Amino acid sequence: MHLRSKGDLGPATAVALSVASFEWLAEREARVGRRMFSRVMGLVSSDMAIDLGTANTIVFVPGKGIVLEEPSVVAIANRDGAREVIAIGREAKLMLGRTPSHIEAIQPMRDGVIADFVAAEEMIKHFVRRVRRRTLASPRIMICVPASATPVERRAVHEAAIAAGGRRVYLIEEPVAAAIGAGLPVSEPRGSMIVDIGGGTTDIAIMSFGGVLYSRSIRTAGRTMDEAIVNYVRYNHRILIGATIAEAIKKESGTAITKANGSPVAIHIRGRDMQRGLPAEITLRSHDIANALSLPIQQIVGGIQQAMAEVPPELAADVCESGIYLTGGGALLDRIDVRLFEETGVRFKIADDPLRCVVRGTGIALENLDTMGDFLIKP
Ligand code: ADP
Ligand code: MG
Repeated sequence: MHLRSKGDLGPATAVALSVASFEWLAEREARVGRRMFSRVMGLVSSDMAIDLGTANTIVFVPGKGIVLEEPSVVAIANRDGAREVIAIGREAKLMLGRTPSHIEAIQPMRDGVIADFVAAEEMIKHFVRRVRRRTLASPRIMICVPASATPVERRAVHEAAIAAGGRRVYLIEEPVAAAIGAGLPVSEPRGSMIVDIGGGTTDIAIMSFGGVLYSRSIRTAGRTMDEAIVNYVRYNHRILIGATIAEAIKKESGTAITKANGSPVAIHIRGRDMQRGLPAEITLRSHDIANALSLPIQQIVGGIQQAMAEVPPELAADVCESGIYLTGGGALLDRIDVRLFEETGVRFKIADDPLRCVVRGTGIALENLDTMGDFLIKP
């Protein structure tokens, strides 16, 4: 067989070819057009999904991914009775425990409820405006609220997002968002359970058929673990350390298993000797941290057992069969899944990228508003 030049083609083939190339051109034009359109729309509006956590706020923009990830902290200066926001996010977190008396570093979402409405509103507005900076039209905002939030708190979050320039604001319950983000079959008629260990609260929820059948929020989570480490060092070594240092120790060397296999890791801690008031240094081993974390972990176990006891046996059986999903930063604690299995006899699965599950689920709900409307709640 030999190749023919274009001149060898018969008239019918030439016509077919030119029609084909016309279609190809038209298709290409349409593709370029669509790309241009979405680029222009991207400049005009950027819808956003927000996970307003007690420790971290994360913002996801469809088509762009995660565009903001900052600690949920606001620093406020009190000048002659007037409160003025001086820093938000990372900069404000650096101030925690380090501020002079007229400045306060606040975590407005502290216990899963809004502890400080004004600071919470300022924080939401600030983050939304930062993401919106280069866009013209108002965005649609999907924002998640703790399952335990009261109607007043839901409205406050809704109003803050509207005040920040949201064209439409939708609310979704956090455990539902976490379950969607973790890829659980939330619409199916079988029970799935999620345990989200955040900074201020651990949220436990059981869902089936697109609804939340059980949800409870307990105030034992990441921050309680940090405080447990502070107290352990204080009572056993008479040394005072700050919560930020305790958090760093937990993340780097914390473990949930008391009798860890392998060689113990030495942890050097610097703090203040409580008797002499001078700087001091001690060395801990990782099982010391596991001991320190035992009580908070036990409280989380208690919450899980209570949930299993309170739902109908069919749901509990579904959960035992498919395992319990762990999300939130606390799921990153070394071998937390093993410890929870030992305590409850139920298998635990750590979701992919557990810190971002909630924002991922919130984003999926935003991108599928037409099919996921049932998951949303009213402000
Ligand atoms: P929230 O949703 O309440 O903002 P996150 O899900 O963002 O909370 O989790 C924050 C918590 O997770 C903090 O208390 C943090 O100390 C904890 N955390 C983060 N990484 C780890 C880790 N590797 N081990 C243990 N805890 C962790
Ligand atoms: Mg969270």
